[in-house]
Amino acid sequence: MPTSWNRLPRVTHARLIELQDRNAGLPDTDSPLLAWGNGRSYGDVCLNDGGTLLLTQGMDRLITFDRNTGVLDCEAGIMLGDILRWCLPQGWMLPVVPGTQWITVGGAIANDVHGKNHHVAGTFGRHVLEMELLRSDGERLLTSPTVNAELFAATIGGLGLTGLITRVRLRMIPANNELMLTEGIPFGHLDAFWELNDRIGGEWPYTVSWIDCVARGRRLGRGVFLAGRHAPPQPAGVRLPQWRDHSRSIPFDLPFSLLNRHSVRGFNALYYRVARSSGRRLQHYQPYFFPLDGIRNWNRVYGRKGFYQYQCVLPREHAREGIRALLRRIATSGQGSFLAVLKTFGDMPSPGLLSFPRPGVTLALDFSNHGSLTHRLFADLDDMVSSAGGALYPGKDARMSVTMFRRGFPQWERFATFVDPAFSSTFWRRMNP
Ligand SMILES: Cc1cc2nc3c(=O)[nH]c(=O)nc-3n(C[C@H](O)[C@H](O)[C@H](O)COP(=O)(O)OP(=O)(O)OC[C@H]3O[C@@H](n4cnc5c(N)ncnc54)[C@H](O)[C@@H]3O)c2cc1C
Repeated sequence: MPTSWNRLPRVTHARLIELQDRNAGLPDTDSPLLAWGNGRSYGDVCLNDGGTLLLTQGMDRLITFDRNTGVLDCEAGIMLGDILRWCLPQGWMLPVVPGTQWITVGGAIANDVHGKNHHVAGTFGRHVLEMELLRSDGERLLTSPTVNAELFAATIGGLGLTGLITRVRLRMIPANNELMLTEGIPFGHLDAFWELNDRIGGEWPYTVSWIDCVARGRRLGRGVFLAGRHAPPQPAGVRLPQWRDHSRSIPFDLPFSLLNRHSVRGFNALYYRVARSSGRRLQHYQPYFFPLDGIRNWNRVYGRKGFYQYQCVLPREHAREGIRALLRRIATSGQGSFLAVLKTFGDMPSPGLLSFPRPGVTLALDFSNHGSLTHRLFADLDDMVSSAGGALYPGKDARMSVTMFRRGFPQWERFATFVDPAFSSTFWRRMNP
C-alpha cells in the first residue's frame, strides 16, 4: 500500500490504479479519487483511506523542450531528478527544487513546493506557464495565470483536490554547468544567524541554515549557514568535482528508532565541528541540493512507529522572538532530531490559494513518534505558531487541528469551491469533519 514519507498515518485500504496514458479518462468508481506522485509528502495529503489512488508515475514523458527559451512541456508524473539529469547538461536548471529530487512535477505543483532560493525565485508554482487539468466530469481544462486563472490558482498548492494534472508547461532557468559554488558559514547562536542572514543572505541565490536543535543556553540556535550559487563556466582541462550515485539504502524497517537523545546530540556536535572547516568550494549540484537522497529509505531509521515533520512559517515581524521560543521549547523537550532547517522566505507572492510559503521565516524538523509525549510538545508549538500569526505546512502534516488549518489558510473556503466533487484525501476529510 503506498505510504507517505513519514509513514504516518497508516492507511490500510485503498484501491490502486496505475495511470500510463495522459489522454485516457479517469476511472469510473464510486470511491473518492486522489493522485499519488511519489509519496514524498509527510502526512496525509497524498493518502486516501478507503478511496482510490491514481498512481501517476507511468505518465512520465518529456513532451517538448525549447533549448533557446528553456520552456519545457512534460507529463505530470515525471520526477524532478529525471528532468535535471536531462536538462542540466544542456544548460537549463529547474527554477525551484525542494530537498529531494524524487518528487513528481504534479506533486511539486500540488504542494507548491519551495527551495533554497525562495527569496529570489518564489515557489515552484510561479514558474508554471500552463497545465492541463482532467476533471471527473471528463472535461480537460487548460489553465494558466490568464486562462481559467482562478482554477489555476486553486490547483497550485491545491493538494491534488481540484482534479488530475496531466500535462505541464514550465519555464526553466539557465545554468552554465552542473556545478555549484557553495559556502558553509557556522554561527554560534541564534542572534548570529539573524546578523548573518541580514548581512549576506541577499548576496546568494540559494541559502538555508542547519540548526542544532539540541543546543541550549548560550548556544541556542547554533548552526551552519549554507549558501550557494550556480558556478561560472569552468576553464577547459581543469579537474572538476564529479558525482557518482553511491547512494546506500537502509534495507529493511527497523523495529525501533535508531535516534535518541544521545545519538542526535553526538551527530549534531560532529556536524557542527565538520561544517566549521567547510569554507567555500565547488560542488556537484547533487550533494548540494539533495544531501539526504544519498541514503535511500532514510525514513526507516525512525523505526516502525514512523515520525513526524513539524514545519511552520512565522511572519517576519514575529520571527525573531517566535523562533527563539520554538527552539527553546524543542531543546528542553529533548525530542528534536538532526534534520532542523531554518530558511527565510522572500516577498514574492505564492500563486496558489492554499500555498504555504509567505514572507517570513520557516522552521522544519523531524521528530520520532513518541505518541502522547510528542503530541503534547506539538500542542505547545502550535500555540506559539498561532499566537505569532503563523501557519503549518499541509504537505508536512499528519495532525494539525481544523482551527489551525483554517487560521493559517484564510482562503480555504474560496478554495473549497474549486474542489472536484469526485476528489478527496485523508487530509481533506480530516480538515472537513
Ligand atoms: C527529504 C525531503 C525533503 C523535502 N524538502 C522539501 C522542501 O525543501 N520544500 C518543500 O516544499 N517540500 C519538501 N519536501 C516535501 C515534498 O517536496 C512534497 O511533499 C512534494 O509535494 C512531494 O511530491 P510527490 O511527487 O512525492 O507527491 P505526493 O507526496 O505523492 O503527493 C503530494 C500531493 O500532490 C498531489 N499530486 C501528485 N501528483 C498529482 C497530479 N498529477 N495531479 C494532481 N495532484 C497531484 C497528491 O494528491 C498530493 O496531494 C521534502 C520531502 C522530503 C522527503
